[in-house]
Amino acid sequence: MHIAIIGAGISGLLSALELTEQGCSVAIFDQQSAGKAASWAGGGILSPMYPWRYPQAVNDLAKHGKSLYQAWNAKLKPISAIDFEIHETGMLIFDEDDFEIGLNYAAKYQEPMQRCEYLQHEQLEQINPRVSEQLKQAIYFPQIANVRNPRLLKSIIAYLKQHPNVQFFENTWIDHFQIQAHKIQSVRTPCGQSFEADQFVIATGAWSEHWSNQLHLSIPVEPVQGQMLLFKTPENWLPTMCMNEVMYLIPRADGHIVCGSSMNHLGFDKRPSTQTQQNIYKASLAMVPELSDFPVVKQWAGLRPSSPTGIPYIGKMPNLENLWANFGHYRNGLCMGPASAQLLRQLMLQQPLIVEPAAYDPVRLMQTGHANGGINPSSIP
Ligand SMILES: Cc1cc2nc3c(=O)[nH]c(=O)nc-3n(C[C@H](O)[C@H](O)[C@H](O)COP(=O)(O)OP(=O)(O)OC[C@H]3O[C@@H](n4cnc5c(N)ncnc54)[C@H](O)[C@@H]3O)c2cc1C
Repeated sequence: MHIAIIGAGISGLLSALELTEQGCSVAIFDQQSAGKAASWAGGGILSPMYPWRYPQAVNDLAKHGKSLYQAWNAKLKPISAIDFEIHETGMLIFDEDDFEIGLNYAAKYQEPMQRCEYLQHEQLEQINPRVSEQLKQAIYFPQIANVRNPRLLKSIIAYLKQHPNVQFFENTWIDHFQIQAHKIQSVRTPCGQSFEADQFVIATGAWSEHWSNQLHLSIPVEPVQGQMLLFKTPENWLPTMCMNEVMYLIPRADGHIVCGSSMNHLGFDKRPSTQTQQNIYKASLAMVPELSDFPVVKQWAGLRPSSPTGIPYIGKMPNLENLWANFGHYRNGLCMGPASAQLLRQLMLQQPLIVEPAAYDPVRLMQTGHANGGINPSSIP
C-alpha cells in the first residue's frame, strides 16, 4: 500500500514510521523543511501539564508517550546516531489549588506516570534545592519525563530518509486533492505537480483548517502561539521540571532549561514578543530565583494546532474512502504523538487498537463541534 502523508511534524513523521514498519511505502510532504514547526518549538513534557484539566481521551493517549518513545529511541538510535534523551526528572507542581485534585486524580487512576506525592518544605528542598524559598510545598510526580524534541525529530527524519520505502518532498505545499467518486486520486501542489497514492493522511497541525473549503467541512483547528525561553546552566543543575500557574521549567541533561509558555491567538504570526519574554522570565525566576545568574541563550515561538477540547482528530475523514486524519493535538502533540500514530496505523490497517477510537473519530468530533466529555474548553490550560 502506498500512502501520502501531508505534514512532517511529529504527527506525520510518527505516522510514517508506524506505516513503514508494517511494509507500506510512504511519501511525506511538507511546505518547509521536515520537523521545523510546532513539534520543534514545543517543550517535550511527556504528560499533559495538569492531567485532571483535560478530557480522559487526551490522557489515554498521553500515558503511552514515555514508553513508546523509549522503544523508538532504542530502535532508531543505531541508525540515526541520535539519542533523543528521555529525561526522567519528575515534575513539581506548586499551584496549591491543584494539590488535592492532583492527589485524588493519581489515587483514582493509579497510572504509574501520574503517581503523585505531597511534599512539605523539607522534602521539597531535598528533591529540588533550587526552588524558591517562597514556594513552601508542592505535589511531585516522580515518573514524568521530558523528551528532547528537536533531536527526536532529527532522529526520526534521519531514520526515515535512509528507508528504501520512504520519499520526502520538502518545501512542497500541498494545496488540494484530486477527487473522483468519493476517492482521492492524488495530491496537488499550486504549480500543478501531482502525486498519486492509495491512502492519504492529513497531519498538517495548525494549518489543518485549510482543508475545510475543499472538503466542505468545518475543521475548527487554529494556530495558538506559544513562546519559549532557553537558559543555559551547568549540566544537571536543575533536578526536576517545575510548574506554577501554567508556566514551566524543563531541564535537559546538558544544563539547558526550556521555559514557557504563552497562549496567544495571532494567526500564523510566530514572532516572539518582548513583553511575553519578560513574563516568562519573571515566572521562571519566581520558581527558581538563581536562574538570574545564567544567560538566556535563545527564544522562539511556535504554533500549536488548537482543537476545541484538545482531543485530536484521528481516524477516517468523512465522505471519502481513503482520507485519514491525525491532527489537532493542541498542547499535547508530543506526548500523545506515539499512541496517536499507532492508533492511526491500526485503524488504517484494521489491526487491534491501542485505545477505544470513538473519542477521536473525526466524523463524530466534527458533527458535535466539540464532543468534550463534560470538560469546559476554557479550562484547558
Ligand atoms: C511553545 C510550545 C510548547 C509545547 N510544549 C509541549 C509539551 O511540552 N508537550 C507536548 O506534548 N506538546 C507540546 N506542545 C504541543 C506540540 O508541540 C504540538 O501539539 C505538536 O507538535 C503538533 O504536531 P503536528 O505534527 O500535528 O504539527 P506540526 O509540528 O506543526 O507539523 C505540521 C506540519 O505540517 C506542515 N503543513 C501544514 N500544511 C501543509 C500543507 N498544506 N502542505 C504541506 N505541508 C503542510 C507544516 O509545515 C508542519 O511542518 C507545545 C507547543 C508549543 C508551540
